[in-house]
Amino acid sequence: MARPGNTTRAVPVDAICERLAARWPDARCELDHTNAFELLCATILAAQSTDRLVNTVTPALFKHWPDARALAAAPQDELEHAVHSTGFFRMKARHLLGMARALVERHDGEVPADMEALCELPGVARKTANVILGTVFGKDEGVVVDTHVARLSQRLGLTRETDPAKIEKDLMAQLPKDQWRPFADRLIWHGRRVCFAKQPACGLCDLAPMCPSADVPGREMETVTEKEKAKAKEKEKEKPKGKPKAKGEPKAKGKPKAKGEPKVKGKPKAKKGR
Ligand code: SF4
Repeated sequence: MARPGNTTRAVPVDAICERLAARWPDARCELDHTNAFELLCATILAAQSTDRLVNTVTPALFKHWPDARALAAAPQDELEHAVHSTGFFRMKARHLLGMARALVERHDGEVPADMEALCELPGVARKTANVILGTVFGKDEGVVVDTHVARLSQRLGLTRETDPAKIEKDLMAQLPKDQWRPFADRLIWHGRRVCFAKQPACGLCDLAPMCPSADVPGREMETVTEKEKAKAKEKEKEKPKGKPKAKGEPKAKGKPKAKGEPKVKGKPKAKKGR
């Protein structure tokens, strides 16, 4: 079981982003859809369910009720039956109907590309709105924080919060804006395939060297690898230099050792694992 994260040290966010990008270059939203309306329905159905299960239900749903106007007129019991297998079917059917009716009444049947307007729809909160805005409209207004993003952000030391809104704030503050969407997509993939809730596969995880929660026997914590340190040094060299030192300026030296003073030996270094 992974150890709890320690957020007191600096978190190498750039290195985490790079490794996630290398590991999951094709990460994307896994809910099948062809337009904003379909993704909105699928995201509502995905609450407390899996994308795979939702994808088994939506083809028939979209065939029967292909747009907001059709769905707004659907009989509640038929809708409940159609989404039954995704769980919480009464509530989800109610949300789908309410959402479709609100789209017809307030937005001429179209899905608005606006955070506030989306969050006013029944069954839609900030997470769903972020999915729609980012995936369909290419608008990065926030970071999708689902159960995987929340869990992994905590384990990686990117947040100490448990409330999704506060986690999102922490992530937005640390990540470059162009990373908000890909980072969340990749973290979700990583959570589904490697960093499982109960038994994270730390031994197979590309993020283990920099993860404060990694549970790898014999592992020594590193912030970044030697390769990444070398890369950072190279970048540093390319930066324009500051004020040059005056010629002949003496180097500041520490307190000179008294002659014959014995060397103080510290605790022996732990043998490097891996
Ligand atoms: S699987 Fe990776 S990200 Fe998850 S706890 Fe282990 S090392 Fe950290």
